[in-house]
Parts: sequence; structure tokens; C-alpha cells
Amino acid sequence: MKINFREAKSIITKSNIPSVDYVINPYTGCQHGCIYCYAEFMIRFTGHKGDKWGEFLDIKEFNAAKIKPEKYHGKRILLSSVTDPYLPLEKKYQNTRRILERLVGTDAVISVLTKSKLVTRDIDLFKKFKNIEVGISISTLDATFARKIERGASKPSDRLEAIKNVSEAGIPTYTFVSPFFPEITDYRAIIEETVGYTHRYMFENLNFRPHNIPRILNIIKENYPTLLPIYQEIRKDRTYWDVVESEIRDYCEKMKLSYSIEFHHGGFSKT
Ligand code: SF4
Repeated sequence: MKINFREAKSIITKSNIPSVDYVINPYTGCQHGCIYCYAEFMIRFTGHKGDKWGEFLDIKEFNAAKIKPEKYHGKRILLSSVTDPYLPLEKKYQNTRRILERLVGTDAVISVLTKSKLVTRDIDLFKKFKNIEVGISISTLDATFARKIERGASKPSDRLEAIKNVSEAGIPTYTFVSPFFPEITDYRAIIEETVGYTHRYMFENLNFRPHNIPRILNIIKENYPTLLPIYQEIRKDRTYWDVVESEIRDYCEKMKLSYSIEFHHGGFSKT
């Protein structure tokens, strides 16, 4: 892992994501190195041309005293959008913790999203916020497959345990079933495992992008060879997602769950 220290002019930045006003990305890069990651474009904008996603991390240096909780009253903040706030190196550098400590007192709605069990370290801090929710993202309960697609992230069972602990501490939680791998992601099993300690669910489909297509298809070929033609077909025919979406909707309605489906049909690459 190549580690650099870089000064960040601002650590809480305005967001282009619908329904999110600000994003906090305490690091540049991501040790989790997910094969499908949509944040990999960051390589181009952060002076990392030639580096591989998942193999570098910039530790952002910032002036914590400049973070003013009152500035974010009434806003929605996402932690994080192009990295994970609880990377293994967060244990050492604690950027996420320092930022949260400075934000205590804000009435912003803060949404924390991670694939790491380290999130439980900050339960004491989460309890100090008026409006905070903590979510895990998960694609599969299969630890072997998860290791192949999200090599640096916590095991699925550890993520489930983490969100359970957070919920039991009285913090609102959510489960982000993402990305949904066709014919692999068993969303019903994920819901069954989490329904006792998840306040709401979100679902997002797997988006093929030019940079991730070869990696995704290779992983499918190696692990689920019979699914390869289906994946190739889904790249051309997006109606598959309409069917999945409708199934998820029916299931969530039947289970009386709070949920949202964030399927981006236009996100597929034709190349
Ligand atoms: S955890 Fe998120 S940001 Fe990090 S590599 Fe995986 S998808 Fe990308």
C-alpha cells in the first residue's frame, strides 16, 4: 500500500449526489479495492495516474478546528462517497473519528456508510448526534465470494455483527444491498439476517463501466461460469433490472419494510 499525506483545503465538501448536501471523504483512495468500484475515476483527478485502485491511500491532512457544526444545520451529510470511512488505516490515522468529534452539536442528518466492522469503535460518538444513521453495504453473505470482489473489506458476517451492535446501542441503521450481482445477490437472505436490526433498506444494481467490465466478467467466469452468458446479456438488455426491481418491491411490501430502490438503468456501458 502506497501511503501519502496530502493537505486537504476542505474536508467537508459540497455534493452533487441527489438528496445529499455535503460529503466527507477522510481519505483519497480506498484500501477495500472492490472490483466494481465506481470511485476509481478518482485516480485521474488526484495525481495517481499509473497507480492501481486499492493500492494507494492519501491520508488527508486538515485543520479540524475549521469544522463548524452549526454550518451544517438542516443539511444532509454523507460519510463517505468515494472511500470508506472505516478503512484498516483509520485505526491508525483516525481522520474519521476526528471529523465526527468536531461535528458533535450539529443537527445535520449524517449518514455513515461502510463495509467495515471498525465502525463499532465510534458507537460512543454516534450516540452524541441528534440525527445520525449508520449503514453497511453488502452484496453477498458468501465470505469466499466477498473476499474476491471486496478484498480489503470486513467479512459479510462481521459487517452484520457490526450493524447489529450499532443498532443495539440505539443508533438508527440501514442496510444497503449494493451492488446487486445478478443471480448471486440473495437479497431475501440478507434481509432475513438483518431485519431485526435494520431500520431501512436500499438497493442498488451492479453498474458495468468500461473500467470494471473485464474484472467483473473474469470473476463471474472463474466463480460462476454458467452465469457468464447471463451477465453478457444483461449488459445489452437492461430489462432484467425491471424484473429484479419489481421482485424486490413485492418482497419489501410483503415484509412491510421501509426501502428505496436506486437502480441506475442508464449506468451501463455499451462498450
Ligand atoms: S468500499 Fe466503496 S469506495 Fe472503497 S473500493 Fe469499495 S466500492 Fe470503492
